[in-house]
Amino acid sequence: MADLAASLSDNQLAVLKDAALDFALSHGLVVRPPVNADHVGVVNAPVALFPTPFPSKAYQNAIDVQPLYNQLVHDISEDDAFLKEIMESLSTVDDFVKRLYDLYLLVKSEGIAQPASLGVHRSDYIIHLNSGQAFADAEIKQVELNTISVSFGSLSSLTGDLHRYLQATTGYFSDKIDPASLPSSESISSIASGIASAHQLYGSKSAKVMMVVQPGERNAFDQRWIEYNLLKNHGVLLIRKTMAEIADEGRLDPTTKALYIGDQEISVAYYRSAYATTDYPTEKEWEGRLLAERSLAIKCPTVAYQLVGTKKVQQVLAAPGQLERFVKDPEHVRRLRASFTGLYPLDGSKEGQKAYEMALQDSSELVMKPQREGGGNNIYGQDIQEALQHLTAEQRNAYILMDIIRPPITKNVLLRNGELTRAEVVSELGVYGLYLHDGQRPTRNDVGGHLLRTKTVDSNEGGVAAGFAVIDSLLLV
Ligand code: ADP
Ligand code: MG
Ligand code: MG
Repeated sequence: MADLAASLSDNQLAVLKDAALDFALSHGLVVRPPVNADHVGVVNAPVALFPTPFPSKAYQNAIDVQPLYNQLVHDISEDDAFLKEIMESLSTVDDFVKRLYDLYLLVKSEGIAQPASLGVHRSDYIIHLNSGQAFADAEIKQVELNTISVSFGSLSSLTGDLHRYLQATTGYFSDKIDPASLPSSESISSIASGIASAHQLYGSKSAKVMMVVQPGERNAFDQRWIEYNLLKNHGVLLIRKTMAEIADEGRLDPTTKALYIGDQEISVAYYRSAYATTDYPTEKEWEGRLLAERSLAIKCPTVAYQLVGTKKVQQVLAAPGQLERFVKDPEHVRRLRASFTGLYPLDGSKEGQKAYEMALQDSSELVMKPQREGGGNNIYGQDIQEALQHLTAEQRNAYILMDIIRPPITKNVLLRNGELTRAEVVSELGVYGLYLHDGQRPTRNDVGGHLLRTKTVDSNEGGVAAGFAVIDSLLLV
């Protein structure tokens, strides 16, 4: 594999670093530093200095399968019986899933005010090489499908721009990189375009989009680009509110159930929060979520879409015959299934018992996952056996098991907080999906660009915010 860093002198690396930092600061490829009480300073978003080699066939497969995943999320969200079976069994062991499912049931029993729904998803993959297989033939294996608060759409596009800029201005890699093999990601504009479609469907010119945010968000600039693109490309205004603020300032029109924040009508509630237990520190946040969910505003996502994004749904879909319940075209089934890795239940079923015994024997090639989002929740390898010893048979049901995907290792130089580190790295590809359903039929089902996150080989988890991973771009090979 090409090691772009190996051929560079320290002097050349220093030139690249300065150029990268200035590019990042001038283009909003930035995050707030951890300690920043007055909110006036920024630092460069953690990025790789060069694009990372990635097989073009695998990339194309991930792009091609995305509309199938978008449609699948919607179809599952409409299957009450399927959701009921899964969510009822999780509800006895997972309070967070229980609250979300109860909210879903409550709003459904009151009558859904807004039949339309917007999905801004991101399906994440790590590539897998069978023994003896060439790098170019590696296959995508899905890590998870995110249906709420997917991030880095904007910073991803900007990182691709950064790499193309460094390549053009320094000329250091002109013999190693063909510019045609650096695909740009339109994710910086596509998410805004999806939200704008939902806003138009809502049909009120004076309404605004509401981004539901976490208080003190450090990744605010990734979000701000969505606001700026909405205004510039679509003439739509966006306000930012936390769930607590929605509870305090929000009300529903008694006849239409239109959501108002103060005097401002809201067309689309777009969530960049609400996925973690820590997003609901008090009952007030749940009140805010319930108010929005009950309303006429188009939700991105609905609670139903959020529930479809759980790891348990991912595991159940991988069981024989389940995917066929939702996907009728055998070729579509084949393409979706080809992107699955081994997934196993830890429930009371025969398969669950088998998987439990398998993990007790040897858990070195497994990941154990609870129904949580946002990184840092998984249990790896040998730690699984220890964890299993502290769980009752019922408590195990809150988790699933998954085969560890071991991707080929590449090399890169990571730029974080103005410091360079040479590292052996592995990458995770994310593909954004946009899906709008008007209540009768889908009116948009599109791919919305991609993201590459790269982390050092020795870290299990890939969180950019958590400080392990950086944002990267693709060098297709
Ligand atoms: P979350 O919803 O918290 O992001 P993920 O399923 O994406 O949960 O897991 C977090 C990280 O853990 C991933 O980004 C990846 O780095 C690592 N990971 C998860 N599942 C696997 C797997 N099957 N093989 C290898 N690494 C994995
Ligand atoms: Mg993830
Ligand atoms: Mg996730």
